[in-house]
Amino acid sequence: MASKIRLAVFGATGSVGGAVLDICARFPEIFEITALAARSDAKKLAALGRRHGAKILCLTEPKDKGWREEGFTCLTGRGALSEIVENPEVEHAVFASSGTTAIEALQRALTRGIDVSLANKESIVVAGPWVMPLVKRAGQLRPVDSEHSAVWQCIEGAEKKELSRIWLTASGGPFRDYSAEELERVTPAAALNHPVWRMGAKITIDSATLMNKGIECIEAMQLFALPSERVSALIHPRSQVHGMAEFTDGTVRLLLSPADMRLPAAAALAWPKRLPLMEKGLPPLEPEQWDLSFRGIDEKLFPCFALAREAGRAGGAYPALLVGADESAVEHFLRAEISYCDIARVISGVLEGYRGSAPSSLEEATALVEEGRAAADEICRR
Ligand code: NDP
Ligand code: MG
Repeated sequence: MASKIRLAVFGATGSVGGAVLDICARFPEIFEITALAARSDAKKLAALGRRHGAKILCLTEPKDKGWREEGFTCLTGRGALSEIVENPEVEHAVFASSGTTAIEALQRALTRGIDVSLANKESIVVAGPWVMPLVKRAGQLRPVDSEHSAVWQCIEGAEKKELSRIWLTASGGPFRDYSAEELERVTPAAALNHPVWRMGAKITIDSATLMNKGIECIEAMQLFALPSERVSALIHPRSQVHGMAEFTDGTVRLLLSPADMRLPAAAALAWPKRLPLMEKGLPPLEPEQWDLSFRGIDEKLFPCFALAREAGRAGGAYPALLVGADESAVEHFLRAEISYCDIARVISGVLEGYRGSAPSSLEEATALVEEGRAAADEICRR
């Protein structure tokens, strides 16, 4: 029997991390967990470590500086993520942490040449120009974000020059049919109630404002090396089709599947193979249920989507500023310090107020995220 694929999973305690570990647990003959990392949730990380037989545990920001867990090699600090991807035992690194902490480890993993499954979108949006050139071979960097996984699977085997446009789909979030007036009264609790996906709080709010879809358009531009005008998004309320690719002969391929993060996780983990998930009890979508209805996104009702599209078109400092400003604005909204509609106003204020130049290094790009955050904090406090 071929040896197992030895994995490191960053963001193991999160929602995508859970989907990844669910797949690994269903196929113990294929996957072996070598290392698990999170930010600070020591209890959950240790429980996962025991359940999945990990050898190494890592907390990037442990609450207790002397944190140790019996039976494991324990590492701390963000530098430890790089140490893990350099470990010769690790063959495949899964980036399912949130934020930009793991960018350096992502670069090191690609440079070392191991396989990478990438759910984290912030790192590619902020650091795409310093990450994508490090990809060594087709299939090394595998998107886990469901829409990008869909496009990636649709364009597999096609030549770049045969591809004309791609589309990502959006469920439209809980407010897709709201009027401008109704949107002014949205509460954090309502925005946290996503109709289709169960996800972390930050990305759930980004899904309600459609900022998530705008950020995903930038992510797609980076991952597939496409200009803004060839990447768009459509509202597809049933969330059955996740992404589409049109080729130069007018043919469109689309990927339809249940809305379950375990599917894109499995596609990335097992590429170029497919795992028999249905045999393991994951239900298929029956043809009688298929629904192919799509509509455009109203940029007036969803100004966050428009701001992200504009940041993607402008490039330079704007994607990183947008990511930082959005993180801050969403935190203020969740604490009920600003309204739902203020999220877009705050981010717009940050982007319009920027007077600097484009980043010329990764350090400058990540500093821009902080600058975007600080500028948004400032506006929120006013
Ligand atoms: P969660 O909030 O559920 O989990 C975040 C994970 O990252 C936790 O393990 C957390 O550790 C860890 N983490 C948080 N901050 C840091 C940090 N500064 N350094 C290192 N680790 C950190 O997030 P999601 O699972 O929803 O999302 C994870 C990533 O995947 C995001 O980039 C998101 O945009 C992307 N994504 C998510 C999707 C989803 O369906 N949820 C879909 C597609 C992409 P701890 O528990 O200790 O805080
Ligand atoms: Mg997505």
